[in-house]
Order: sequence, then structure tokens, then C-alpha cells
Amino acid sequence: MSNHVDTDRLDFVGDLKKGRPTLGNLMRVSVYRLLLYSMKAVMIEELGKQKTDEMFYAAGKNAGQIIFRGILKDESKDFDLIETIRDMLFKCRIGIFEVKQYDEATKTFTFVVKEDLDCSGMPIDGETKCSFDEGLLSGILSDYFKVEYETTEIGCWATGEKSCIFRSAPVA
Ligand SMILES: [Zn+2]
Repeated sequence: MSNHVDTDRLDFVGDLKKGRPTLGNLMRVSVYRLLLYSMKAVMIEELGKQKTDEMFYAAGKNAGQIIFRGILKDESKDFDLIETIRDMLFKCRIGIFEVKQYDEATKTFTFVVKEDLDCSGMPIDGETKCSFDEGLLSGILSDYFKVEYETTEIGCWATGEKSCIFRSAPVA
């Protein structure tokens, strides 16, 4: 398991020790959600829901690639990808990540994320909320396996599950 997966090391984050000596790098989930869902609302009004979801997916994928290229690929060659993702998502308080199933024949993963940052506890409206997470997982898996992965959230707190369920498969 890696002890070095630390998103604070990403260049664009800046120097938090210098910039926030009193407040540090913690903030409230409610503030994060205020930013996320107000941004989404404006984008949905301008672009429609499908395009907005596509853009959050693309942003998540970009973030996944930044994380992989900026941090994960520096790990020793035989690092355990799944364990490293689990460790990172837990430390960053994004969610509690586990592999529910892996199908060797199709190289398809089913992941579960409990207490997800984006959706856990949200009202149930029947629509999955976590397109950024879909992209994030796709970005990391695509870079790691050097095969294009696509991820779909098939269950979400907002669809009545008590965790997010993602299916990640190579693009045929
Ligand atoms: Zn979700």
C-alpha cells in the first residue's frame, strides 16, 4: 500500500501550508456540494443535462489522468492499483472504495463507493449524480491499463442505493 499518494502534491493545488496556515486543507462537505451543485445548475440551464454530465465526466477523466500521471505512476511498478485507489479515496475523504466484482474475461470491474462525497445523503430523485467519479475512475484505469476504459454509475444514493455502484469496462 502506498503512503505517498497525496493530492496535496499536485502542482496546481499550490502551497497550502503557506497559503492557509490557520485553516489548512480541510473544508466542509456542504461547501463542496454548494460549489458542485450550483455549478451544475448553471451548466444544465445553459447546456442541458446530458452535455453537463458529459463535461463533468470529461473533467473527472482529466482529474484521474492528472492524479495518475502526477502521483500514481511514481509508485513502484508492482503497486496494487486497487489498494492505492482505495487508500487515496479514503485519505481524501472522497469515499470508501471497494471492488465488488471483476470479470476476467471482459476485464470489467464493478466498484462500490460508500459515503460518496458527491451524493451520499442526497434526496432520491432517480438520477445518478456522480459523473465526475465515473470520469475519474475511467481516467485512472485508462492510463494504468493503457486501454480506454468507460465507466457508468449503475446505482447511486440518488437512485435509492446506499452506496454508488460503478461499472468500468474497456471500450470495445
Ligand atoms: Zn452516486
